[in-house]
Parts: sequence; C-alpha cells; structure tokens
Amino acid sequence: MMIEGRTGKWEIVIGLEVHAQVISKSKLFSGAATDFGAAPNTQVSFVDAAFPGMLPVINKVCVEQAIKTGLGLGAEINTVSVFDRKNYFYPDLPAGYQISQYTRPIVGKGKLLIDLPDGASREIGITRLHLEQDAGKSMHDQNPSKTYVDLNRSGVALMEIVSEPDMRSPEEAGAYLRKLRSILRYLETCDGNMDEGSMRCDANVSVRKPGEKFGTRCEIKNVNSVRYVMQAIEIEARRQVELIENGGKVDQETRLFDPNKGETRPMRSKEHAHDYRYFPDPDLLPLVLDPKRVEAIKAALPELPDAKRERFVRDYKLSPYDAGVLVAEREQAEYFETVAKGRKDPKLAANWVIVELFGVLNKQNLDITKSPVSARNLAGLLDLMEDNTISGRIAKDVFQIMVETGKDAAAIVQEKGLRQVTDTGAIDAAIDKVIADNAAKVGEYRGGKPTLFGWFVGQVMKATQGKANPAMVNERLKAKLGG
Ligand code: ADP
Ligand code: MG
Repeated sequence: MMIEGRTGKWEIVIGLEVHAQVISKSKLFSGAATDFGAAPNTQVSFVDAAFPGMLPVINKVCVEQAIKTGLGLGAEINTVSVFDRKNYFYPDLPAGYQISQYTRPIVGKGKLLIDLPDGASREIGITRLHLEQDAGKSMHDQNPSKTYVDLNRSGVALMEIVSEPDMRSPEEAGAYLRKLRSILRYLETCDGNMDEGSMRCDANVSVRKPGEKFGTRCEIKNVNSVRYVMQAIEIEARRQVELIENGGKVDQETRLFDPNKGETRPMRSKEHAHDYRYFPDPDLLPLVLDPKRVEAIKAALPELPDAKRERFVRDYKLSPYDAGVLVAEREQAEYFETVAKGRKDPKLAANWVIVELFGVLNKQNLDITKSPVSARNLAGLLDLMEDNTISGRIAKDVFQIMVETGKDAAAIVQEKGLRQVTDTGAIDAAIDKVIADNAAKVGEYRGGKPTLFGWFVGQVMKATQGKANPAMVNERLKAKLGG
C-alpha cells in the first residue's frame, strides 16, 4: 500500500515487536502461579516483590517454550545466552530493573511466512526472540486519590519477538500478527489472547519515498488487537507524511494509539539502550543449552500451519486460500480432516465446513470446539449426499435441524421422511400432473420460450416437497416437454 501525498507516493515501513506470554504454570524466576484474573497480589512470591536477598531461579519450562517457539519460527537457537538487567524506575517494577536479554538472546534470526489475500506468501524476517519478565500493573481506577499496584503479573515470562522492518502495509502487519498467533497456538507456547493481554504488540512505523533509505521511525506502544494495530499504523503513517510534506521532520519517539479519537499521541521521547544501563545480571549464570535437548524438542514439533496448508492443497486439492482458512486454528484443521478423510470430493467437505459450519459458528459466536454439529455428524451428512440418499438442497435443511438438535443426519432424514425420490414412476407422475395442470405454460414453452424450463423444474420439485432427484427431474422433464 502506498500513501498518496501532495509530493507523490510514500511507502510505509513497519517492524513489529510482540510480547507473548509464555504458557507456564509458574513464573520465569519464581514458583508463583500465573493464572489470569486472580485477585490482586495473590500470586506474588518474595522474588516477584523484589524482597532484599531473594534470588531468581530459572524456570526450565519457560526456557523450553522459548526454544520450541524459536524452532517453530525456523530460527537459530543460541546454546549460550545471557540475562541482563534493564534498569528503570516505575511503581509497578519493585526491583528497579527488569531481567531481560539484550546482546545475547536465546533465539536469533528466523522467518515467518505471511499469507496474502491472493493466496501468495511473503517472507518476513525475525530478528530475535528473547526471554524477559513482565512488570506488575498500576491500578488507577480503585481509589479517587490513590494508585494501587498489582504484582500478579510481575515476573511472568514473556517472549519478545522482534521482526525485521520488512512489512509494507497495515494488511501485511495484520497478516504477520495472525500468522504468529497461529504458530504460537499450534506450538502451545502462548495462547495468543490479545484481549487478556497475553499477546501485545508495539508497532514501529516510518515512511519513505520508494527507493530511498529508511526514514525515522516512531514506536506505537502496546496495541491490543490486530485491527487496532492496522488502524494505528495507517494513521501514524499519514501523520508522518503530512508532517514531512509540511517541512517538518519525524522525531524518534514512543507514541500511544487512541482508537476513540483515531490518532496517535506522543508518550515520551525515545529512550536508548544506554538509558537503561544494561548489564549482565550477577544473580544468574549464562543460560547454557544442551544441543541434544534442542534436537529432541525439534523432533517433537507438531505439524505447523504452513506445512499443513501445503498438505491440504496437495492431498485434498483445496485452493491455497481455503486451505489457509482451515489451518488457521489447529482444531479447525482437525475437524476438517475428520470430515474429509477418505472422501471422493474433499472440496465439497471444505465448502461445508467453511461456508455452512463457520457461518453457524460465527452467528452464534462459538469456537469450533463448542460446535453444535460434531465432525463425525457432518461427515454422516456428506455420506448421505454422496450416496444420493438426499440432495444438496435437502442437506441444507437437514443441517439446520442438526444445528438445532445435535442429532445425526441419518436419524433426521429417517424421522422426517426426507429420503430423495429416485423412483422414475413417482417423478414421471409428478411431471405429468404439472404438465396437465399448466397447459397454457406448456404452450408458451413449446412456442419458443425455453427460459420457462426452470419454472417447470421448480413446480415438480415443489410437488415432491423438494425430494425428487434434481438431475432426474431435469432429464425426464426435458424428454416430456420436448424442445
Ligand atoms: P528498540 O530497542 O529501539 O525497540 P529494537 O531493535 O528492539 O529497537 O526494535 C526495533 C524495531 O523497529 C524492530 O522491529 C525493527 O524492525 C523496527 N525498525 C527499525 N528501523 C525501522 C524503520 N526505519 N522503520 C520502521 N521500523 C523499523
Ligand atoms: Mg525493543
């Protein structure tokens, strides 16, 4: 996407920093719990509250989760990495520093494929992934004149995943976040829940004339939905273009996005690495990984969305777009495979899942794991279509009843007498009656109005309550009407 300015076209350059909360029962350096929504300050150990003399102990599960994520992003795993103190003062940071990784992160360069609307993919570079602690939370809304602090989040493990400045439009940034979220969820290393803050995004945005070198960037902090990230990027890029075209220059700074006002506002001037006085945490040894352990984690990785999508295109002959929709969530892909397995027409199965089932789930705001129609029951419905027990049209009615009752398709067809009529005698009788009752229309048709044919089909279908086999109706009707 280009922005059309007064002085010509501008290109947007975007790099994203994502904070992903590691799925782990306990924190990065303490045994305190990490459950979301607990009462304030009920999940805080002395380490998280930074009591004097308390020492951090690294949580092996969090380390393995970071390795797994790195491998899932096709990245280098650094067998030696170092924890640093990032020093700053804030009420929600009792130690006065955050334990993070700076010069030697646990994961180095990797890549992520984003899926574009036309079915193509584009590679976005991952710069690094490092482990760090989350801070606590200041609560300004509990008392009119006081601010309280909740330390439940203090010390929770985060993976900061930094991308290269490789994205060129809000759509690409959205696709990056969706794909990253999907991979994290497949890996079960982060639940990707942006509403609950377990995935937060800082968007770095600059603009340039095509072909020129990168402009100065601004960083928009802590945006908490994919839609807001996309809006914030576009609004910020337009602000920068207008500023530059009016003779100003962009200051590198940290900004906030206000979705209500549709603007970004300065928060603070950019802090630099030296402001943080980084130094290796003297309480922690360098983190040394056993390459065998890394290999074992790699061998146990699940099939990830890109590989699954490719397999769906190859084995089930789906379009890349449909395959992409199905593999976005692991549970959806599993549902589809249960329905499609061993079927002559897997594309039809994909259509039923994407159009009919997802339509119902969307309308009822349900997750696929709560689907009112099980994968086996949907497969049963397709079986009835495949062996011509019911037509595709009746199948839609049966599906509606399945949604409402949770019953299986065969039982519904039996109970309601919806079996398709393929008996030529019965179909011929219905056709003969329609012809006899509509002599005038028959005359018009034979006199040169072939478009009336559809009307006759409709009458016969109506007379058989939609149960006549449509192909047979067409064929017999043509023979009887002539022309
Ligand atoms: P910092 O410590 O300042 O946040 P990082 O190196 O951690 O710096 O992250 C910088 C982020 O900004 C990366 O995601 C990177 O891709 C992105 N970035 C760097 N330069 C630009 C630029 N000119 N325009 C847009 N994004 C950029
Ligand atoms: Mg950064």
